[in-house]
Amino acid sequence: MSITSVGIIGAGTMGNGIAQACATSGIQVVMVDISDAAFAKGIATVASSLERLIKKEKITPADRDAALARIKGSTSYEDLKSSQLVIEAATENYDLKVKILRQIDAIVPADVIIASNTSSISITKLAAITSRPDRFIGMHFFNPVPMMALVEIIRGLQTSDATHAAVQSMAKALGKTPVTVKNSPGFVVNRILVPMINEAFFVLYEGLATPEDIDAGMKLGCNQPIGPLALADMVGLDVCLAVMEVYLGEFGDSKYRPCPLLREMVAAGRLGRKTGRGVYQY
Ligand code: NAD
Repeated sequence: MSITSVGIIGAGTMGNGIAQACATSGIQVVMVDISDAAFAKGIATVASSLERLIKKEKITPADRDAALARIKGSTSYEDLKSSQLVIEAATENYDLKVKILRQIDAIVPADVIIASNTSSISITKLAAITSRPDRFIGMHFFNPVPMMALVEIIRGLQTSDATHAAVQSMAKALGKTPVTVKNSPGFVVNRILVPMINEAFFVLYEGLATPEDIDAGMKLGCNQPIGPLALADMVGLDVCLAVMEVYLGEFGDSKYRPCPLLREMVAAGRLGRKTGRGVYQY
């Protein structure tokens, strides 16, 4: 099955990025949010992102106009009826996602695939909420979606091979490289990335090196574009801590214990760039 029409729930950071990636690949998009202002903001973000691509001569003004014409903003879940795939990219909150998935499930035809862009909630558990667990899957995009090549495709215990194949080829049609993962906390990338950041905090906590030298070591020694401590400041120290706590709880393995220094910084309100101070001062 070739997917030519997609519904997206949420016009925020990820929702509008996914909408842009779909629209520039020739896919019709309906992007649903809770207010006219919310979806208008999402469409405006896509428009300014496309404008930057024109300045860089990556697309033409005609490409922009065609892409924008493919995105319809809405506050009505009824408008999802004509979509072949609905991607849920609303706020990361379990109870909210349950409510949204029940709404989608009640409205879209039984053959429509539903995907979630959740970073941390079990795909198997979300699939079980719907009446079509075999047609439910995780599509974990990376931020900023139009630039990042990876999509993790997460198979819940119930996901069918046909659903997996359809979503895998759709990700390729967006110009992305899909990697398939079994459902498990953090999937693949964050499962490896966040404990690495936590380990960088341990190295700092033990006074082994300065933040600048830790980051320089990982940049120059491992060819990482940004050091793990600077990355923690971008992601948010509170987010890193919450993720480690999920791993510790879910796996029950002490190797996931959050570094005490990470806890202290979060307790002090030093959450990174968003508060003006994390490991570094901004
Ligand atoms: P965001 O806060 O930028 O956007 C969420 C949007 O969902 C908001 O516009 C909000 O109004 C909307 N929303 C809330 N309730 C809704 C409802 N009932 N119906 C329709 N829309 C509703 O969040 P985000 O960063 O785009 O994250 C969205 C999802 O993507 C989360 O599950 C998050 O874990 C995941 N994710 C985020 C990133 C990231 O780097 N930001 C990366 C990968 C995955």
